Formats: sequence, C-alpha cells, structure tokens
Amino acid sequence: MPQMLPPTTHEREDLARDLHDAIQEGGLHLNYQPVFDSRSERILGVEALCRWRHPSRGDIPPLTFIPLAEDKGLISALGDFVIRQACIDALDWPGVMVAVNVSPQQFQKPEFVERIRHILLETGLAPSRLELEITENLLIEDIEDARTKMQALQSDGIRFALDDFGSGYSSLNYLLSLPFDKLKVDRSFVLRLEGGAASVAIIHAIVSIGRALGMHVTAEGIETAEQQQFLRVAGVHSFQGFRFSRPVPSEIISRMVGEERQFAKLSMHAK
Ligand code: C2E
Ligand code: MG
Ligand code: MG
Repeated sequence: MPQMLPPTTHEREDLARDLHDAIQEGGLHLNYQPVFDSRSERILGVEALCRWRHPSRGDIPPLTFIPLAEDKGLISALGDFVIRQACIDALDWPGVMVAVNVSPQQFQKPEFVERIRHILLETGLAPSRLELEITENLLIEDIEDARTKMQALQSDGIRFALDDFGSGYSSLNYLLSLPFDKLKVDRSFVLRLEGGAASVAIIHAIVSIGRALGMHVTAEGIETAEQQQFLRVAGVHSFQGFRFSRPVPSEIISRMVGEERQFAKLSMHAK
C-alpha cells in the first residue's frame, strides 16, 4: 500500500490525534463493496472498507489514515471497530460472506486470535461467514506465528484471502508458506490487461497458480465489460469492481441482497 501520509510532521500529529478521537467517538464508518460470482453474477460476499469523514477536512482516504493508524499504534482499535461493525451488519445478509482487511501489525499482536473469537461470540456471526484479507504488500515478519494463527482461526471456519496479489515482493513465498483460501488478483494487473500480451500472460499464470493450489480466485478493480469477459474466460471465480458496484453504505447492500432473494424466489415459482 503506498504511504500517502500528510506532508508535515505537525500535520500528521494533528491528524493522528483526530483519528484517535474518531475511533473512540464513533467517527468512522464502513462501506461495503459487493463481490459477484463470475458465472451466475449473484452476490457471494462483500468487502468492508473503512471510511473517515473528518469534521473539517472532509473525507480522508484509507490510504492516508490506515498507514497513520499503523504508525501511531491505533490500528488494533480501528481494526476491532471494523470487524465488530462488519459482523453486526452481516447479520442482516444471510448467506453472504463478509471480508475484512486486516493489517499485518494487527495480525501480529499476540491476542489477535482471541480478539476475533471474542467479537464473533459477542456479535453472534457464524465464523464461516467471515473472511480476513491480508495484503501481501506489507511484510509479515514471523511466518511461523502467522501460520499458527491462521490455522487456529481456520479451524473455527474463518477464511483467509491474500489481498493485492502480485503487488509486493512476497507473493509466491506467502503462497508456499501460508494456508490462504483465496487469492485476490491486484487491480494493477486488471488495469494493464488492454496493454498487451505480457499482461495477459501474467493474469493467466496467476489464475492457474491459484486454481492449481485449490484456491478461490477473485479479480479486483474490474471496470469494463472487456476486462470482465477476459477474466471470466481466464477462470477467475469472482469479480469485484466499479463495473458492478462501488463501495456503498450497508443499507444499499441490504437492499441488493433483499432484491436478489426476491428474484430467486420468483424464478423458483416460475419453474
Ligand atoms: P483493498 O483492500 O485492496 O480494497 C479495494 C480498494 O480498491 C478500495 O479502495 C476500493 O474502493 C477500490 N476499488 C474497488 N474496485 C475498484 C475499481 O473498479 N476501480 C478503482 N479505481 N478502484 C476500485 P479504498 O476503499 O480506498 O481502500 C484502499 C485500501 O485501504 C484497501 O485496499 C485496504 O488495503 C485499505 N483499507 C480500507 N479499509 C481498511 C480497513 O478497514 N482496515 C485495513 N487494515 N485496511 C483498510
Ligand atoms: Mg481488501
Ligand atoms: Mg486489494
């Protein structure tokens, strides 16, 4: 993830203080971006994306405030808020997976596994509905510890996705050493698809590695019909991107899920 931090130290300190207050006082909220099955085009899941509307500066992008939270020791408190809120909202969307981004700093905390279990118990969401996305962009320092934690949570039914696959230096190393269930092809590869044979070859290679390892493959950042068509033929299992939906508030997801259920019921009756 690029470090889009505000320029001066002074400004960063101010912003960090405001972020601390926002976490404590309910100043953050979540949007959700749906993920669609590449064949049926039905909603398989949603990804929770944190939003911060600063009282005077307006919307601050996650690429600014997430690295700031990581830097200032606020990421676990922010992460707890995100997971708890996503679990509560997901109770309204039966059968839909909810994915939450987890920062490596948060994941590396010794109490991480217990925190997740506690939030699931507290909210009542089935562990099999929760997916944790870890970006390959930031380094996981202790692979052994990461594997133990993943296995503990996977034994409860939680799934793990390797986010932004291909964007960092550790992609293949992580795939070999950590038990991910899903691979999310980084948006930059999708973006370059029109650029020629090399990008096409890379996407095919990524999809075949994922499939050969028995993983679910999602492509993010799909914006055009051509990208969608190419990725479907290449064997990607699910799609995420502005072509289908931007990240939206939870009420809109409730409506989308409700409409889909209604449509499925009507088609059943019509048979
Ligand atoms: P990500 O997890 O890879 O999330 C996908 C990002 O791509 C989101 O940006 C989403 O709005 C954007 N996106 C989705 N489809 C398209 C598309 O078709 N075109 C374009 N141009 N963009 C698309 P967003 O919400 O700004 O988040 C950026 C990153 O910030 C996320 O990347 C994730 O790494 C991080 N992030 C967001 N929320 C959280 C959070 O709650 N916790 C942590 N640790 N990180 C978060
Ligand atoms: Mg993600
Ligand atoms: Mg991503």
